[in-house]
Amino acid sequence: MTRRDNLADAQSAPSADSVRRAERHLPSGSDFISAVLDTVGALIVVLDREGRIVLFNQACAKATGYTYAEMEGQPFWEVLLLPDEVPAVKSVFAELAAGNFPNKHVNHWLTREGEARLISWSNTALVGRNREVEFVIGTGIDITEHASLERQLQQAQKMEAVGRLAGGVAHDFGSVLTAINGYVERASRRLDEDDPARSDLQGVLRACDRGSDLIRRLLVFSRRREGKPEALDLDALVAETSGMLRRVIGDDIRLVMDLQAEPGRVIADRSQMEQVLLNLAVNSREAMPEGGELRIRTREVTLDDSQARIHGNVEPGDYVMLQITDTGTGMDAETLSHVFEPFFTTKEDGTGLGLSTVYGIVKGFGGHILVESEEERGTDFQVYLPATS
Ligand code: ADP
Ligand code: MG
Repeated sequence: MTRRDNLADAQSAPSADSVRRAERHLPSGSDFISAVLDTVGALIVVLDREGRIVLFNQACAKATGYTYAEMEGQPFWEVLLLPDEVPAVKSVFAELAAGNFPNKHVNHWLTREGEARLISWSNTALVGRNREVEFVIGTGIDITEHASLERQLQQAQKMEAVGRLAGGVAHDFGSVLTAINGYVERASRRLDEDDPARSDLQGVLRACDRGSDLIRRLLVFSRRREGKPEALDLDALVAETSGMLRRVIGDDIRLVMDLQAEPGRVIADRSQMEQVLLNLAVNSREAMPEGGELRIRTREVTLDDSQARIHGNVEPGDYVMLQITDTGTGMDAETLSHVFEPFFTTKEDGTGLGLSTVYGIVKGFGGHILVESEEERGTDFQVYLPATS
């Protein structure tokens, strides 16, 4: 008897009444089951008591790139799971095998290509004649895209809230600084040229300047300062900045330019766009203390509805993309989820204002920014600005 027949014969849970009724009207139970299993969109995988795969439907094959023939009899743990997630999945399996079903679980499957897909599972078990669990059945839905959209939405909401807070504080604190400045200037006018208090007041003014600079950066982040927009040729702008970028990154880092956004015009502020390039390049340099490669790429891209959604619910349309890739230290997932927040830094002497400024500038001109990073491999920023003719 093949495992598949065995499965069809196994006595199923009471909820299978409707299936039994259907079986009475259909030519053969196992044909019926195969037909359903292989057309249904959900992933269905069945394991025996030892966790070996006995059934792997078409949807599983499509999602993973493995065929049923390849998977049949394979120990589930060794082929499809991320090593980190094996213990959790084993304990879910143990619960089912102990008769505690149904249950639900979310974990990744590794495809043949090495891609991790996030799957939401509803699991149950089939009890045999001896009342022992014989098979465990998982029915899964691939929620990779859904989960990533949800994360992006949360991220966007978080940035909105932080932006409002930062903007509010910067605005009100700006008024306080203006008042301090005014009083100090008045007071120093009343002092004699050689009054020793003058140098103290100079110190107050210098501290005010530092405060103003901080406020200016926070206002850029919260988009309360929009700059002077004009139509810019992005390739030309990047080319013009290359001298400065080369000086910034030093001799140990190779600068590779691949500028093909022609005509690639965007509406933005020239000095703010230089700031974007500079802040990204400085971060890349700091991530490559032993040298490496900084690649700057520009392209014109059209985002259709579904691509725009993948980018985090942005407007579909024509964009000019500016991509900055380094071969530096990269970031872990935790760092990655905070990079655009003002004052977030992992550096001892960092300000945490570089990327928040970039974020504010890009958003200010109707653009968006994506970041991908892998530890020890490097980081990739993609800035998208709406294209204009
Ligand atoms: P700062 O550079 O002052 O720390 P930023 O806002 O520029 O502040 O960056 C925030 C954090 O993001 C950095 O501290 C670092 O952890 C991380 N980061 C930014 N860019 C990169 C990069 N290219 N490679 C690795 N980590 C980066
Ligand atoms: Mg920085």
